[in-house]
Amino acid sequence: MAPIPLIDLGAQHRSIQTEIEIAIQNVIQETAFIGGSYLETFENAFAAYCELPHGVGTSSGTTALHLVFAALGLGPDDEVITVPNTFIATVETIVQTGAKPVFVDVLDPTLNMDPEKLEAAITPQTRAIVPVHLYGQIADMGPILDIARDQNLLVIEDAAQAHGAEYKKKRAGHFGVAATFSFFPGKILGAYGDAGMVVTQDADLAKQMKMLANHGRIEKYVHQIAGYNYRLDPIQAAILNVKLKHLDRWLDRRRGNVRLYNQLFAESTVQTPIETSDSRHVYTYYVIRSEQRDQILEGLEKEDIQAQIHYPIPLHLQPAFQDLNYQKGDFPVAEQAADEILSLPLYPELESVQIQQIADAVLKITS
Ligand SMILES: *Cc1c(COP(=O)(O)O)cnc(C)c1O
Repeated sequence: MAPIPLIDLGAQHRSIQTEIEIAIQNVIQETAFIGGSYLETFENAFAAYCELPHGVGTSSGTTALHLVFAALGLGPDDEVITVPNTFIATVETIVQTGAKPVFVDVLDPTLNMDPEKLEAAITPQTRAIVPVHLYGQIADMGPILDIARDQNLLVIEDAAQAHGAEYKKKRAGHFGVAATFSFFPGKILGAYGDAGMVVTQDADLAKQMKMLANHGRIEKYVHQIAGYNYRLDPIQAAILNVKLKHLDRWLDRRRGNVRLYNQLFAESTVQTPIETSDSRHVYTYYVIRSEQRDQILEGLEKEDIQAQIHYPIPLHLQPAFQDLNYQKGDFPVAEQAADEILSLPLYPELESVQIQQIADAVLKITS
């Protein structure tokens, strides 16, 4: 049988090839290579998709995070609370501001920030909380926001995996001062290279971020402050603008594929992902859990089915963050999950027969 990749970017490209080629050609014909209308169109369209007034395009999801942190003035005297089971960018960018990352454990089974652990992690130095909407499900923002309000803390949402996700009928960016997105090719809405965005309701913050992302510039050679070059490439913006029009249809297909997987695993020992009652999960990854995770991974490999672990080593155990002085055992929920989670292939173009084939391969090992 044909190999099945974790995600098939080629299949998606072929389904929209003509539209994409026209979009790229337009940017080239107009030599609109920096800033300009293609960027603005996409910033407005994606902010509107998030039901928010402002979007600031960035060169990646990582620079989007650093841009918000820098615009909010996080620095060496501050502590920023986040979770250990995320992509390194969430924490790397906190460190880049000079602030100290502080981890709290996550909740089983969503694996999102545990609001009950949050309070104990707050000190007089705490300035901000960065919940990560892991795998495409928004964190339990109600209690997190109550604590943030009580303690006068900023909330920034890492929504790199949560395009179109909802919590109590609201999309990412409605819960914090800002939310950051990644358009890395493998994300739900992926560019043809690196790209990202910050969305916010705050006009002043948006203006500050626009300036900071463009060399702190207020006019061509007048710089208000020393900034960064974090601009979103207009070719990527034009591509993303084409793809955004298909996003809702793709999300429906993703969710349909998830339903089929869940049915096929219903009678098995494989733990399938939970969608909480007040949320709309968009499934950047379809993550199962099993004590036989390593055997499943090996079995799938033999059948040419690609699976991956998001993420195998929690950040508090990474060599890069040894100076934070955490130890194995500090975040038992995140640590146990890291030993049991496995992301199976999931993309809108994945066919039912392929899902059946993947599920059969998993069930052969677990039953
Ligand atoms: C992908 C990702 C990022 C970083 O985005 P890039 O566009 O790859 O820089 C940050 N946080 C999370 C949770 C991610 O999944």
